[in-house]
Amino acid sequence: MDIICREQTCVYNKGFSCSKRKILIGDKVTCTDYEKNSEIKNIEDTSKKVFSNEPPKYHAHRESKKGCIHCQANCLFRNEQTCEANGITVNKLNGKPFCVTYFKE
Ligand code: SF4
Ligand code: SF4
Repeated sequence: MDIICREQTCVYNKGFSCSKRKILIGDKVTCTDYEKNSEIKNIEDTSKKVFSNEPPKYHAHRESKKGCIHCQANCLFRNEQTCEANGITVNKLNGKPFCVTYFKE
């Protein structure tokens, strides 16, 4: 289970990977464990440099069998209260960390 996340202002975000192994996606499909990192002032848009000579550093794929995503959204990948996708991607939508792997049931 890997959690890719684009919400870089969160304390748990390490190079676009979530370091918190247990999170809860709420019924509005947003991550309820977001915690603002007060030390981060400006977020650089590194996506422009992906194909440059000096690409930005991203965290390696962080596969974890201990990871667990609890979820309350009405999604195809949810079984009981747990996400059964192989991994999820969280993106910042309308200022909120939204699970874009969501697939309406
Ligand atoms: S917003 Fe949620 S998924 Fe993203 S780094 Fe923070 S806790 Fe992890
Ligand atoms: S993929 Fe679906 S079940 Fe898994 S966390 Fe996202 S919304 Fe919840």
